[in-house]
Amino acid sequence: MSVNEKMIQDIVQEVMAKLTIVAAPVCGSRGIFNDMNTAITQAKKAQNCIHKMSMDQREQIIKRIRTKTLENAEILARMGVDETGMGNVGDKILKHRLVAEKTPGTEDISTVAWSGDRGLTLVEMGPFGVIGAITPCTNPSETIICNSIGMIAGGNTVVFNPHPAAVKTSLFAVNMINEASLEAGGPDNIACTIEKPTLESSSIMMKHEEIQLIAATGGPGVVTAVLSSGKRGIGAGAGNPPALVDETADIQKAAQDIVNGCTFDNNLPCIAEKEVVAVESIVDQLIYYMTAEQGCYLLSQAELKRLSETVITEKGLNRLCVGRDARTLLGMIGVTVPGTIRCIIFEGEKEHPLISEELMMPILGIVRAKDFNDAVEKAVWLEHGNRHSAHIHSKHIDNITKFAKAIDTAILVKNAPSYAALGFGGEGFCTFTIASRTGEGLTSASTFTKRRRCVMSDSLCIR
Ligand code: NAD
Repeated sequence: MSVNEKMIQDIVQEVMAKLTIVAAPVCGSRGIFNDMNTAITQAKKAQNCIHKMSMDQREQIIKRIRTKTLENAEILARMGVDETGMGNVGDKILKHRLVAEKTPGTEDISTVAWSGDRGLTLVEMGPFGVIGAITPCTNPSETIICNSIGMIAGGNTVVFNPHPAAVKTSLFAVNMINEASLEAGGPDNIACTIEKPTLESSSIMMKHEEIQLIAATGGPGVVTAVLSSGKRGIGAGAGNPPALVDETADIQKAAQDIVNGCTFDNNLPCIAEKEVVAVESIVDQLIYYMTAEQGCYLLSQAELKRLSETVITEKGLNRLCVGRDARTLLGMIGVTVPGTIRCIIFEGEKEHPLISEELMMPILGIVRAKDFNDAVEKAVWLEHGNRHSAHIHSKHIDNITKFAKAIDTAILVKNAPSYAALGFGGEGFCTFTIASRTGEGLTSASTFTKRRRCVMSDSLCIR
């Protein structure tokens, strides 16, 4: 292809991306309905069809969802940023690629078998039916695509009640998933939603007789609501992940990893480093590398006061600050910095509200600990018993083990940025629903199935 052709193709793609944003799907598009009851009825019809399909046919649908996600990664990323005002396009493109490439499909559904003198017994993973899913505004389409792949692989269909602040992006993703299904020979409405999701539509979903399992991804309010619904709930709740650094760590690399993780998509991922606890002997060195090499801006006391008042108001967390980049946040308090600045740091006590609260913005408070045991104690306090995520930079195996046991989180990343936990620069699969509260941990297709025992007595053992 000549350079000119390539340029023209890029321009066409950019224009198409912008046009698609204007033409976001509405009611009448695939899987999008006016009311929750209709959405569930249609998803049930699709589930009857999916359940009869072979595993190979399900996998063909998932393969098509992956392809379409890759094709639409930039559109989805732009839509997410435009609609919510949070995060950044480059990182959101990476998140969509990750979800397309590393979310497990039907290979995650396996059978356990016992065979012996008294016959053959299998435990098979069967579908729940229609799963109700509630999704956040921080990773809207990423969560919808990730949940859909896992739930469909398990033989289910899904009805979403997305966050109202990310409805356009969510509807686009739902429409895309159904287009993928049709293109792969599957049914329409394998993922459904409604045009105007509300708390009321969420409540209708939670009470509906066809919904036996609800997966809630979001803050503490929604997880508590789902766990009080009387239905089985998967609760993927809030976190406040500390990054602990001890004196044995490679401090220069720790500074780089922590800032890379913290600034990814402007700190929106629930697993991202939200504060640092470092032992006294290396704190100054860590701050040096962060400011000299990693684009961190060290706040003065006066700036810290102004930033605290801006980020946490009398009404609580200022949503206008969530998912904004460091320069925008500093601009809000009248500080102008060069484009190289990507993270805001300061030293403070663990009780400081910009340290103890889950902010979801690239602000890293650094807490000084007198020794490793003190660091563990402070980090555990800061995690608030969410049992979600924590990170450690250390080369001391006993220290790592001690921290892992004390903090007891679903995720513990050692010597890497937090996103290594999602398979990005680390081994393992990807998910955007980490069931911290209910203990399933990183969810995948098998999480969305029920175990059924199938027994053949005194036969079929051919050993
Ligand atoms: P949020 O709690 O404001 O909203 C999440 C979803 O829950 C939305 O769809 C919202 O409409 C719904 N919701 C909120 N309260 C509800 C209630 N009482 N009843 C029914 N539905 C309700 O969260 P957000 O701002 O969209 O996302 C950020 C939060 O989600 C952070 O706390 C973050 O840590 C958490 N999160 C967790 C995970 C995880 O996998 N554990 C993933 C992403 C985000």
